[in-house]
Amino acid sequence: MKKHNFSAGPSVLPRVAIENASAALLDLNGIGLSLIEISHRSNDFQQVIDEASSLLVELLDIPSNYKVLWLGGGASMQFCMIPFNLLEKKAGYINTGVWAKKAMKEAKLFGEVVEVASSEDKNNTYIPKNIDVPTDLDYLHITTNNTIFGTEFKTDIDYPVNVVADMSSDILSRKVDVSKYAMIYGGAQKNMGPAGVTFVIVREDILGKVSRQIPTMMDYRTHIKEGSMFNTPPVFPIYVVRETLKWLKSLGGVEAINKMNVEKAALLYDEIDRNPLFSCPVNVEDRSLMNIPFVYSEAYKDLDGALFIEFTKERGMSGLKGHRLVGGFRASTYNALGKDSVEALVQAMQDFEAIHSK
Ligand code: PMP
Repeated sequence: MKKHNFSAGPSVLPRVAIENASAALLDLNGIGLSLIEISHRSNDFQQVIDEASSLLVELLDIPSNYKVLWLGGGASMQFCMIPFNLLEKKAGYINTGVWAKKAMKEAKLFGEVVEVASSEDKNNTYIPKNIDVPTDLDYLHITTNNTIFGTEFKTDIDYPVNVVADMSSDILSRKVDVSKYAMIYGGAQKNMGPAGVTFVIVREDILGKVSRQIPTMMDYRTHIKEGSMFNTPPVFPIYVVRETLKWLKSLGGVEAINKMNVEKAALLYDEIDRNPLFSCPVNVEDRSLMNIPFVYSEAYKDLDGALFIEFTKERGMSGLKGHRLVGGFRASTYNALGKDSVEALVQAMQDFEAIHSK
């Protein structure tokens, strides 16, 4: 039976990337050694990391005054590296839910943190708009896609200060104007590759401005200077990233995948809105392209959630259980998820309706 993987992350990756990485695990470039057995400083690996970086530059049209870094520690490590490197006096954070709050918590260890806006009053079901951003911030931090609550900043907003964006769960899903951000970062484990590597895209001129000492490993300038090779980089995840980026390029890049993402998301949102059993808690204009939460509608709230999960499992679907903070269900529709998987889910919702509607 075809499997349909709606996991929020780690999540579905292009089959061809996994196949190519499997082959390189056994024998890289025909050298008779595994990708994970050779020096990260060998030519064979240097080519891999260089190509991963150049593909990312090409796919996101990253201007030349930015550097691409491949680091460990996940997006969570960035929550502290960012203020370590950038927060001298005051930083602003837009609180759109769990991940934004975690980032804010770390920043408070380094300086004054202003919550410039929050969507907590409505359980993070919307993106705050028309925000008054103080102009004396060292930076403003936003989480462009809120993986848990299913909200997304859909456009690149012109804020009057340097913007640092956590794009863990929507990187490469839509076109962004990188020049509107001072830094973009995220864990790779959604649209870009497996867990274990973190991407950082940073405009060099924002670094070196804080007065504190920064431990070598926590200093972005170290990793720029050493080409992400100050210490041993996560070689296998970086290989899978390269293969995933090659796949994306072969499909026509970010604009092409965005078209497919818009189609997939529309299919599912339309069904959620039509189907009397389900509803989507998220403000319509802020609905994420990547993470689509839905719950039983008011009239059906007594139905057991496990019933629908079981129903979809029988049809080869997984990863649909909602986050405990939202409840219900969540379908993550990342780049590598085929439209056929969304169609299968829509069909399952209709079949479920036929059985349970009152
Ligand atoms: N930010 C966002 C938006 C996320 O979705 C996640 C993980 N799901 C994180 C940060 C944390 O990433 P990591 O596990 O790589 O630290």
